[in-house]
This record gives sequence, C-alpha cells and structure tokens, in this order.
Amino acid sequence: MTTRRTTPATILDLPPAEAASRLAGWCQERNLPAFRARQLLPYLWSRPLPAWGDATDLPRSLRDQLQADWPLPRLDLAQEQISSDGTRKFLWRLADGEAIESVLIPSGERRTLCISSQAGCALGCIFCATGRMGFRRNLSPFEIAGQAREVILRTPDLRPTNIVFMGMGEPLLNWPGVDVALTILNAPEGLGIGARHITVSTVGIVPGMQALAARPEQFRLAISLHAADPERRLALMPIEKKYHLAEVLQAARAFTKRITFEYVLIGGRNDTDRDADQLARLARRMSALVNLLPLHPGGAPGLTPTAPARIRAFADRLLTQGVEAVVRRSRGLDISAACGQLRVESEARPARSRKPADATP
Ligand code: SAH
Ligand code: SF4
Repeated sequence: MTTRRTTPATILDLPPAEAASRLAGWCQERNLPAFRARQLLPYLWSRPLPAWGDATDLPRSLRDQLQADWPLPRLDLAQEQISSDGTRKFLWRLADGEAIESVLIPSGERRTLCISSQAGCALGCIFCATGRMGFRRNLSPFEIAGQAREVILRTPDLRPTNIVFMGMGEPLLNWPGVDVALTILNAPEGLGIGARHITVSTVGIVPGMQALAARPEQFRLAISLHAADPERRLALMPIEKKYHLAEVLQAARAFTKRITFEYVLIGGRNDTDRDADQLARLARRMSALVNLLPLHPGGAPGLTPTAPARIRAFADRLLTQGVEAVVRRSRGLDISAACGQLRVESEARPARSRKPADATP
C-alpha cells in the first residue's frame, strides 16, 4: 500500500506535552520568564487561537516572533452545508490542495464530530464514496485533530463533545497520524475529550487494532462488519481477503470496553433473516452493540438501500435475540452526509452550482 508524505510538521503536529517542552525551551533561549511558556500552551488546543497575533495578552514583539517561529496552520473551509436537521458538513482544503470532510452531528447536549484520517481510502468497499476515489495520502496529526480545532475556532458554541473516526479513510492504516491525534484530542492540555467519547471505526486492520488496544486510555472501537459471514463480507469489502473476520474478532477481544458493530444495510446483499440471525449470534458472542445504518445511496451506484420495513424487521430480529441494536437515523440526508460524498460531488459538479463557503444560512 502506498504512503505518501504528509504536510510538513508544525507545532500542532506534536502531542501537547511535547509542544509544551518545545515552547518552554524556546522561551528559555530568549530569556523569557517560565510563566510565558505556560501562557502559550492553551492557545494551541484548549483555548485555540486562529493566529498568534490574536494573543492580546502577549507583547506585540513576542507575538511576531511566535508567528515567525511557530506559525499556527489552519484548514481552509472550501464548503459548508447545514442540513435542516442541524447536521453540518465541512469540506476542508489542505495545504497541498487535497480535500477532506468532517460532519458535526448535534443531538441534545451532545455534539459528535465525525472526522477524516486519510484523504481518500485504498480499501474500496463497494458501497463507499471515499473508497471509489482511491487513496490520496495520510493526514498529519494536525490535519486530523485540527478538524475539531477548526470547528471550535469558527463556531465556539459547537465545541465537539464526542469524536468518531468515521469520515474519510481507514484510521488504522494511518496509525502514526491517528496515534498522536488521539493524544491531542484526549489530553487535558489538548482538546480534553474523554477517551470514552472517542470512537475509532475500522474495517479490522489487525496490527492497528493491537496498537490501539495497547494504549492505556480505553478509546472505543467500532468494527465495520457489514456481514457476519466471511463470504458475504468479502463481496462487500475486499479487505476481508487480507484480514479474515475470525482474526479481526480475535483482535477485538483485547478491548475491555464494549465494542460496536457497524452494519450498513444493503438490499439483497446482507439484509435477509439469515443475515440477521448470523449477526445476532456474533454480536452475542462478542457482547457487541449493533449500529444499523441505512445505505446512503449517493456513495453506491448500483446498490439499493434496504426498505424501511425490512430494516425494522431486521432490527427486531436482533432485539428478540437479545442483541442491543440501534437503527441510526440517516442524518443530513439532504446534504450528502455519507462519508466522502461531499468531495465527490464538489468535484463532479460545475463550479457555479457549488455553494460558496460563507453563503450558508
Ligand atoms: N474506514 C473506516 C472508517 C470510515 S468509514 C471504516 O470503514 O470503518 C465510516 C463508516 O461509514 C463505515 O461504517 C462505513 O460503512 C460507513 N459508510 C460508508 N459508505 C456508506 C454509505 N454509502 N451509506 C452508509 N454508510 C456508509
Ligand atoms: Fe475505506 Fe471505510 Fe470507505 Fe471502506 S467504508 S472504503 S474502509 S472509508
């Protein structure tokens, strides 16, 4: 699998503890008092600033030096869509021109931000718009955690309370980037989001699952299952060839917190009673929660979403077998909120029909 370089490192690519010591060393070299370094750190993540120039409690000359030595990068907003149900979708343009997406889903007191870990994806699941665009490159820690930073900078009231790695890309094929991003998202001097509120979704990259399980924080794991039978799974997800279902489930045993199975329902492919019974057996064996996702048709030409009545019957069949299953409401259907779709659409549509970034209601 190809891995291309990520954009050059910035101070926002470092775990907060390391950023703190770099800033402390930098202040020391300039004979600045120690309290200065402590004053700078929160501006990176916990109370982020768009640029050092906005740190009005610092002397002007210090702001200028910081701007020169440790510039704070931004993600450019290329497009924003707001759904009638409150879901917001962001398309970010990266320094090298790549585009990635995040989706903010408000629900009561909770604001879940769905973030991307790669530009594109190499894994080619047949129902996924990101899979269709192929792999472009891995994202840096800043480009991953920075999606949440950018939402906070633009709309402080929408500070995310929960993070899910369910945007573009396979997070566990970009472990170096995701590893540091998890630290930034979770650390008190970072964004301070509790590990129980951060979910990594994977098709089941076994070495990555082992690395995630070895971290002490107990981040949550979601496995994109989509079929409980290896043969059916292989027809939807080529990765089944490399990491077999049995191996993936074995690796999932290292997680002490309850895991989730993601299951996109696709007409005639994985939605029969027999599929439900197989899924129920597996979910019970693994004590897994099941998230049933209606297929978002935009990502999958040629595939049919399962009809609502069949979705209900499928869910009921799981429930009667003692499995905790939830049918996820399709959020933001009117704004193409399935993974990868905004980028695909913005590249396919003529420029004049694109909505400019700041013209959203
Ligand atoms: N690569 C990781 C994480 C990103 S995909 C993974 O696959 O788990 C995140 C979720 O979006 C997955 O559960 C995937 O099944 C879902 N998804 C992708 N395309 C979809 C579509 N067309 N409709 C509904 N869900 C989709
Ligand atoms: Fe990649 Fe996940 Fe899409 Fe599959 S569903 S192609 S792993 S992003």
